Amino acid sequence: MVKTAVGSDVEAYCTKCKIVLAHSVVAMEGAKPRRVRCNTCSGEHNYRAAKPVAKTAAKATAKKTAKTPKKATTKRTRQSWEEVMQEASAKPHKKYSMSGNYGEGDWIEHATFGLGCVQTFTAPNKITVRFTDSTRMLVCNRS
Ligand SMILES: [Zn+2]
Repeated sequence: MVKTAVGSDVEAYCTKCKIVLAHSVVAMEGAKPRRVRCNTCSGEHNYRAAKPVAKTAAKATAKKTAKTPKKATTKRTRQSWEEVMQEASAKPHKKYSMSGNYGEGDWIEHATFGLGCVQTFTAPNKITVRFTDSTRMLVCNRS
């Protein structure tokens, strides 16, 4: 490593150019540059090896892309209908009745078939609902 001193060229993040560029050291703090002058825009500012936020974000993104999507995908594909049902039972759901008003994604509780998720709503009064063992077409909006 070349010893850095005042007047040395260092690569630093330029707060004006917003990228890492060659800078000249203006002031030192111990063995590290403290203030630098950008060779490109001649702006003088505190020394930063790299854009701090970008570095952290890049790290976080790298970690995320490396782990999270894989896990999420695995979890999603492995999640069985029973698990979906279990999660759904904790969410608010409506008691099914023919006069009820339901939309896609609603969870309903049917007296015979149990808990189901509304898959589609067909105007004016039909819904297809996925239950544990079957998908059924039910009537709604009937007054
Ligand atoms: Zn600059």
